[in-house]
Amino acid sequence: MDTLRRTKIVATLGPATDEPDVMAGMVRAGLDVARLNFSHGTREQQARRVQLLRQAARDSNRYVGILADLAGPKIRIESFREGRVQLAEGAPFALDTALDPAAGNVCEVGCAYTDLPADVHSGDTLLLSDGQIVLEVEKVAGTRISCVVRAGGELSNRKGLNRQGGGISAPALTDKDLEDLRLAAELGVDYLAVSFARDADDMRQAQSELRRWRGEARVVAKIERHEALDNLAGILAVSDAVMVARGDLGVEMGYAELTGLQKTIIHQSLARNRVVITATQMMESMIQSPIPTRAEVSDVANAVLDGTDAVMLSAETAAGRYPVKAVQAMAEVIRGAEKYQLGTQRSIVRAEEDFSNTEEAIARAVMYTANHMRVRAVVALTESGMTPLWMSRIRSDMPIYAFTRHENTRRRVTLYRGVYAVPFDIVHQDTHSLYSAIFDRLLELGLVDLNDLVILTKGELSGVSGGTNSMQILRVIQH
Ligand code: ATP
Ligand code: MG
Ligand code: MG
Repeated sequence: MDTLRRTKIVATLGPATDEPDVMAGMVRAGLDVARLNFSHGTREQQARRVQLLRQAARDSNRYVGILADLAGPKIRIESFREGRVQLAEGAPFALDTALDPAAGNVCEVGCAYTDLPADVHSGDTLLLSDGQIVLEVEKVAGTRISCVVRAGGELSNRKGLNRQGGGISAPALTDKDLEDLRLAAELGVDYLAVSFARDADDMRQAQSELRRWRGEARVVAKIERHEALDNLAGILAVSDAVMVARGDLGVEMGYAELTGLQKTIIHQSLARNRVVITATQMMESMIQSPIPTRAEVSDVANAVLDGTDAVMLSAETAAGRYPVKAVQAMAEVIRGAEKYQLGTQRSIVRAEEDFSNTEEAIARAVMYTANHMRVRAVVALTESGMTPLWMSRIRSDMPIYAFTRHENTRRRVTLYRGVYAVPFDIVHQDTHSLYSAIFDRLLELGLVDLNDLVILTKGELSGVSGGTNSMQILRVIQH
């Protein structure tokens, strides 16, 4: 079992990952959570990807979580006959809401959002593909918006489209999202990401819809619009995790603010006991190249040093030439960065605050002890994964093993930094046999050596969640 890397890897599934060998390669390379992007592809494709992923995870005997990412109210262009075009700076290019959706070419492309011609005016700047392509509007006539390319490059099918300075005003969940949410519940995904969440109400709506379809997914708020930053505390209060969605966030706030915003969001998430994913263009050049740029290496490493739980790959895996290499490179960079993670050993988070419940108090006490005493590992007997979640909010190099009999808990903790799932059923009559079973499992997996100290947390072994109320420091022995 791989205990060296603490920061987790989320990678997007897509056409480039549809071969079983590729999927298996990504899982072996360390994929922790697979992302399904509901902005692209059919329901059948999503369902098939879930199957492929689960098969690959079973084959390598690893736990891999699944995150379904809703499309949200994003305006997108339609498709090109050839899948993509190269736009040259200074060339004319038109968006036409009446054009056949599949008929785009180097001069024009369709757009399903029929109000677009009414929303934009000559002189406006339009940003496509997370701001990589810039168009200036020259003239609007009927269904057609004629532009000049100000920043060119490759433009491919269904890229996002924003007007500079004019964010999206629609609610986060569209009709399509509500259908996709139901599919996500049916597929039994572990996390559901809400794109363009504005506030706590958007997240509550997603949660109640999930409940309606008996989905057990935890919810992730994608922080990518202005309002979400204003309402961050409220969003964090009701969400299980957040994603620093740097693509649209950079378009909305200007890319110069991104680094500061990333640090702020990560810091606030940890302070409020929430999980945080850092996303978008982390290894963008690996769409084409087997090796990341030094700037990308630095970006991933800095997110690790910022304390993110997970870093994410988007097109690098979904549509790139080197999906397996991208995961490998990311794993390697994370390991390299974590060697230099200074100052986490004795961190005292929330030193001035009251703990909200017994579990949090235990979790904090454990990490405080673990960081000040040379123990080898922390073992948490857990039902829902809550105790390891609280523990992992304190950054440490201590591995936290979530011993649980629940398969969905094992998949859920894949996103938590420094937490690793271990299947373990509690059937023991007395603490003596329980301890030896735990030690045997740890030794068998090579996670500890004889005579190591470990910290164990547990409840009354009643199998109810929320019951962790004790912490023990134990020496590993064999009977
Ligand atoms: P989002 O705003 O949700 O991030 P996105 O369009 O930026 O949407 P990403 O998942 O970030 O999508 O991936 C970047 C690019 O990779 C996409 O724009 C698309 O070109 C390609 N891609 C991703 N997933 C798929 C897929 N399932 N099918 C086809 N292409 C995909
Ligand atoms: Mg997005
Ligand atoms: Mg994106």
